[in-house]
Parts: sequence; structure tokens; C-alpha cells
Amino acid sequence: MKRTLIAETANCSGQKIKLNGWVNSYRDHGGVIFIDLRDRSGIVQVVCSKELPQIELIRPEWVLEVIGEVKDRPAKMVNEKIATGRVEVKAESVAVLSAAEIPPFDLKEDGYQINEEIRLKYRYLDLRRPRLQRNLTYRHKVFSLMRQILDEQGFREVDTPILARSTPEGARDFVVPARQYPGSFYALPQSPQQYKQMLMVGGLERYFQIARCFRDEDFRADRQAEFLQLDLEMSFVEQEDILSLIENLFRQVIEKVFPEKKIQKFPFPRLPYDQAMKEYKSDRPDLRKDQDPQELAFAFVVDFPMFEKQTERKGWAPVHHPFTRPQTDSIDQVKQNPGDIKAFQYDLVLNGSEIGGGSLRIYRPDMLQAVFQVLGHQDEEIRNNFGHLLEAFQYGVPPHGGIAIGLDRFLSIVLDEKNIREVIPFPKTEAGRELMTGAPAPITPEQLKELNLEFKKKK
Ligand code: ASP
Repeated sequence: MKRTLIAETANCSGQKIKLNGWVNSYRDHGGVIFIDLRDRSGIVQVVCSKELPQIELIRPEWVLEVIGEVKDRPAKMVNEKIATGRVEVKAESVAVLSAAEIPPFDLKEDGYQINEEIRLKYRYLDLRRPRLQRNLTYRHKVFSLMRQILDEQGFREVDTPILARSTPEGARDFVVPARQYPGSFYALPQSPQQYKQMLMVGGLERYFQIARCFRDEDFRADRQAEFLQLDLEMSFVEQEDILSLIENLFRQVIEKVFPEKKIQKFPFPRLPYDQAMKEYKSDRPDLRKDQDPQELAFAFVVDFPMFEKQTERKGWAPVHHPFTRPQTDSIDQVKQNPGDIKAFQYDLVLNGSEIGGGSLRIYRPDMLQAVFQVLGHQDEEIRNNFGHLLEAFQYGVPPHGGIAIGLDRFLSIVLDEKNIREVIPFPKTEAGRELMTGAPAPITPEQLKELNLEFKKKK
């Protein structure tokens, strides 16, 4: 017999069906036992006679196979609170597929009150919570709609390496020792920045990827060491082409997936950086007017300065990254007055959070070289670290630019979650630990030896 999904029972009145799922609740009413059975599609009430074998052993979260007939409930027994509330299933047989220990915490409520470390240690149970099922469902819907929209716009989804070479995005790299090359390391990508630019040199013209990015930054509440970006890059475009693509993409996502939300202003306001700093004292202003939970105030902050003063040492740092195109073609100006140069850089802001950023890129090798020099790189360093890019740019490079959207952050805002961990399937704690499997963890002395690494104990 084929399995029926619980949501479908509502339309199966009079039929004999087979259900699979978990015991959401179990109520003993003397002669009969009521089991609310739950699967990914919903919950339905199953009525079981006490005569059924083993029926009295069953407890919450046990996994069952129920065969029975779907019956309309008498009018006064209808439960309007659940989608299947007009029917119930009269069990003919109930088989236990798997028994369950008592879960360490409640799985039915929203879970906000429960200690988060325990929830993360038992994430596989926490994920049964309706709120997290909802969050992951929306996550999926958003990703698949973004893929569909970009596909329609002629984009190609291209994957890029995780074991890669360090690219500067302003954070520390996570590194992986290369066993076959003692002393050498792969870096986990802070973003696919260099690869996507190489794809433009490679003639792809329109690339996107739901890309995993890794940044070894100091811990902060709304940051994760690894996170997902909707990363994209386009050739032969101006800044406006990218901004309008993104605002149309978000408009479709909101209209189709979150129709109850209201985009405050469309097209999204374009706010020059200087004006934002003057009027709002922030480069990610919150432009909501009503502050009602359904309001989404998107805006682009544009015309960022190209360079800012280094904080830790003397000299200049890029405000975005070194590949960003300055708003001048004059190499002399860039070298002489770095502090005055604006860049073709833009951030996407939503309700006071930065949810994305990007830029047009330098595609002239001499300009790229000049920017590296302003940033204080020695010629040899430039050759060693970026020689491949400078070389690639000598083989015919299209003007290009792109953007990356932080998907976890975006989802947490539209799903009204205060914490991005609530929208990530297996997040790390604020202190960077993945408590379910216990990462990070020491490796064996044999592994260290194979990697030619030695662990120095702190004195
Ligand atoms: N790679 C950049 C970032 O991760 C985004 C971009 O410039 O496209 O912020």
C-alpha cells in the first residue's frame, strides 16, 4: 500500500490509507487512545482501540505506520485549528517503526525559551519544531525561486572551489593544511570573488551561485563562520544594470514567497554614502516609516569612498575589496589622492541591516596594479598573490561587476527571526562551535604527523 501524506487525509474521506510519521501527542481516553500523528505535511488525529497490540506502550516521538480508514468527524468534534481537523483516521493497525526516548525538550512550541546550546546539541530534534520546519521551507522556496529567476535572465549557476587560495575580503582565512605540500595551505574562500571574475574572463557573462563563504572573524551575535551568499557577476554592465536586476529579483521573491510583506518603496532608493552618513549617521540606515513588522525598507547605498585609513597600521585599506573600480580613470588621481576617490560600490540595506554588497570591478591591469600599490603591496607580493588575475586581464577582459547577498541575514529579517541561527539548518554557536557533532575537535597524532604539523602547547 502506498503512503498517504497527512495533509492529503483531508480529502480522503471514506478511504483506507497508510500513514507514516511521529507521535505528536498521545491521549488515553479510557477505551480509546487518540494519537496526533505528524509528518512533514501536517498533523492528523488517529483514533486507536485499546485492543490494538502494544498500543498502550506508545509514547510521543515514536515513529509509526498506521493503516486505517479516514472518517468525517461529527460536526461538534471538528477542530478548526488544524488543516485536517474535519477528519480523523480510525486505525486498523499500528506498527511501531522506531521507539523514542523522551526528548530533552519540548518540540511543539516555538522553542525560544529553551537553552540554545541544548537545542543545538539536539538539532535533529529541534528541527522537528514547526517553526524551524517553516524556516527551512521558506529557505528552500527563496533559494529555488532565486535560481529560477536568474535562470530566466540567462544566468549560469557555476560552482567554484572550496579548497582555494586566499582572497582578501577583509577577514582572516580558515586554512586547510595541504598534506602533499608540507608548509602550504589551502584557504577556504571568504567569497568566490576571484573565481567569479575569472568566469567573466572565461566568457560566461552571467554567473551566479548560492555560495558558501568562510570568514574567521571575531565572534559576533549575528555572524557565522560560514554562511551563504547569493553571489553573482555580470559582464558588459553599468552599476544600474546590477541594481535593477537585484531589486526586481527581491520584488519577485517578496511577492511570491512573502506576499504579506510590503516593500516600502520601489524602485529601492539609491542613497549616496555621504548623504547617508550626514542624514542618518549610518551607512545602513533604517528607512522604515511605520515600523510595522510587515514593512520592508530596502535601499541601495552607493558611491562609497574607495579607500579608508588603515586602523592597525599606516596606509590605506579598501572599503570594499581591492578589485573595486574607482570612479576615475586617472591612475595619477588614485595614487595622489586616494582619500578623495569614490568607488563604484554599493550596499543593499534592509531595515537597517546590510544584506549585501558589490561593485563594478577594475578590468585594466594598470589600474589594478595602482590600487594594489596604494594599498601598500610590494611588487613582488602583487605578483605572487594576484599575478594570475593580472595575467588573465591581459587576454581580453570584459568590463564586469557583481554583488553578493547574505542569504541567512535576509531570511532572518523576512522571517522575523532575531537570530540568524534560527534560519540555518546546522548553525554554529556564537563562539563558533557546532555542538551536535562537536566541532571543532582535536585530530589524532597520526593525522598531525601525516600533515607534517606539530601542535605547540601554550605555556
Ligand atoms: N565578494 C564580495 C563580498 O563577499 C561581493 C562582491 O563584491 O560581489 O562582499
